[in-house]
Amino acid sequence: MTGVDVVDTPVAELADAVDRARAGSAFLREKLGDLPVRGAEDFARLPFTTKQELRETPFLDYAAVPAERIVRIHSSSGTTGRRTICAYSAKDLDDWAEMFARCYSFAGVTEADRVQLMVGYGMWTAGVGFQAGAERLGAMTVPSGPGNTDLQLELMREAGTTVFGATSSFALLIAELVEREGLRDELSLRVGVIGSERWGDATRRRIESGLGIETFDIYGMTELWGPGTGIECSQHDGMHVWSDHYHVEIVDPETLEPVPHGTPGEVVVTTLTKEATPLVRYRTRDLSFRYGEPCQCGSPYPRIGRIEGRSDDQVKVRGVIFLPAQVDTVLAEVAGAGSEFQAHVDRDESGRDSLTIRVEGSDRPGLAGELAERFQAKIGIRVDVDLVAMGTLPRNAGKTKRVFDHRTL
Ligand SMILES: [Zn+2]
Repeated sequence: MTGVDVVDTPVAELADAVDRARAGSAFLREKLGDLPVRGAEDFARLPFTTKQELRETPFLDYAAVPAERIVRIHSSSGTTGRRTICAYSAKDLDDWAEMFARCYSFAGVTEADRVQLMVGYGMWTAGVGFQAGAERLGAMTVPSGPGNTDLQLELMREAGTTVFGATSSFALLIAELVEREGLRDELSLRVGVIGSERWGDATRRRIESGLGIETFDIYGMTELWGPGTGIECSQHDGMHVWSDHYHVEIVDPETLEPVPHGTPGEVVVTTLTKEATPLVRYRTRDLSFRYGEPCQCGSPYPRIGRIEGRSDDQVKVRGVIFLPAQVDTVLAEVAGAGSEFQAHVDRDESGRDSLTIRVEGSDRPGLAGELAERFQAKIGIRVDVDLVAMGTLPRNAGKTKRVFDHRTL
């Protein structure tokens, strides 16, 4: 069978992971049955696990270790429907800290750094994940949490912060404030570790130039321990994924067949070492692709492309698939265009759909027309452009909503 993507993980290791998962988890035992995994073909026949299944199964029914071995739980945002709860054994937390420390190392962070964590704590995985990794590395941590830009800047000055972790939305907010108030020389920032939402090159350039830093895109989600599954290296050409803990497949989201390297599809993950909430062929809904060739940096860890969106984010307008990442690509290439945008999809009384992109930009003459042309070429349908002044669209401490579908379907 061709196209079965088990290049990075020896089949015996995959079989072990699957056997451990179903030995411990009542849910997975029932779902996967007892078919042995003797080769790539057997593995490829195992059913996928969906977000919905994880959400609807009580976490102790799903867990592959007894409750007394669980030392912590986290939950995902639950913005769409019920929360998903994931459980962690002591070893899971230890492995996570190790993986996250590796992420920092790939970003050039060392024990000499001071790392400010402007990310969510509590039930979220970001805060404790970013913190445990930095502490494992031996860096000084400043657990400031998200929000309150004035306090963040005060702490940055007092602590001599050199590295921060944040969502791209919040990093942009900080960068714009620092630029507006001319504070850059008072700060010692050099690296930003940015995660939890898709962000485009235009946003990235504004953050980097506003703060005078290098940024690194980090990957992860609650079900995969949290952030720390992988990160960019200094080449900034895709994200390395820790293949000693994860087996990654990329499949066509419609047919669920594996796609060749370089072809975008849905990221499907099997965890190899996770004890309490192991995943077998878990559909993340994230869209990315696998690189076929090794990275220039020499690291043996495989790479996936930066996340292009979630298969839930894509909307169909007049028969064409539209992804917010397409807007990012255009904004990064047009002079005078800002990085912030909203896409509004409407339907008129005759049933005709229209796509309007509200975007921040300068007052350069002809900018709106140029953007409309470029969007049409990229997306494939006519796009109305609503140009607004820089700084007028909302910035959040967390994730930013990009697509507003006003159609009643
Ligand atoms: Zn690399």
